[in-house]
Amino acid sequence: MQFYLATSFIFPRSLRLRLFALCFVATHLPLIGYISWGMATGRIALAEFLLLLGATLVGTIMALMGIGALLSPIHALADTLRPDSPEAPVLPEVGDVIRTLYAGVHRAATSTRAQMDELQVAAHEDPLTGIANRRGLLAQIDELPVEKRQGCIAIIDIDHFKQVNDRLGHDEGDRVLRDFATRLSAQIRRIDMVARWGGEEFAVFFQHCIEDEASWSLARLAEQIREHPLGDVDGRPITFSAGICRWKGEEMDEVLRLADQALYEAKANGRNQLRRARPERTAA
Ligand code: GH3
Ligand code: MG
Ligand code: MG
Repeated sequence: MQFYLATSFIFPRSLRLRLFALCFVATHLPLIGYISWGMATGRIALAEFLLLLGATLVGTIMALMGIGALLSPIHALADTLRPDSPEAPVLPEVGDVIRTLYAGVHRAATSTRAQMDELQVAAHEDPLTGIANRRGLLAQIDELPVEKRQGCIAIIDIDHFKQVNDRLGHDEGDRVLRDFATRLSAQIRRIDMVARWGGEEFAVFFQHCIEDEASWSLARLAEQIREHPLGDVDGRPITFSAGICRWKGEEMDEVLRLADQALYEAKANGRNQLRRARPERTAA
């Protein structure tokens, strides 16, 4: 790199021309040496001079063609990388090929990083509702500092949702899911986290909440849905059930299992209600 920079004063914007100049001088050294020696001693012979001149010219042409051929794939690669990106860094002292390659590689790396970010978002987001999916919620919780990893977990399930699809059609079912996700997200606080847990199930992490607060929040949502129904099937408004479990930072699997069990009890008890995993139980 030092030699590269030190020779940058010769054709500073073209590495190819710099290489050609270097090669030209190097291949002519024997000829220059012979002429200098011949002039100093007066023993220069025309035949030997012409022979050496011819060999030097052939050697120079071969070297230039060889360098040109070796450089062409690099130039082709540089062209494909299209380095005219405005984000590409400016390297004032470095010549064309290195600058071109560096800018191209930088551009490719930037676009790969952007694609990876997009994939990361897609892997953590539910495409139908736009809220986090199960993996997204668990990742968000994982990122929290230890002192914030406590509160309540609620698993929420829309009642008789299969009938919504069967009677009103799959598109209407999708609309109900989107609408429910919007209302649920609007109901919770900014520090709480919501996700589509799968199918017609949703999950909420109520940060730093006791069961009473989580229950009130979901009861308010139930009330709002009673006043402004999501839709109805055969005259019956669409409702939801939920299981709520306190989380004090212990194993998440166990809390999810208890919340799920409470939800199951809410369903078994007639649906359209909230159940706490422990210690007491509340009906909406
Ligand atoms: P329960 O009250 O016991 O929860 O009954 P349910 O009918 O809500 O529950 P079930 O598990 O029997 O049916 C859930 C339905 O949700 C079945 C499935 O086709 C539907 N579903 C799952 N994902 C989607 C979706 O993305 N869009 C639509 N429209 N329907 C979905
Ligand atoms: Mg379900
Ligand atoms: Mg359901």
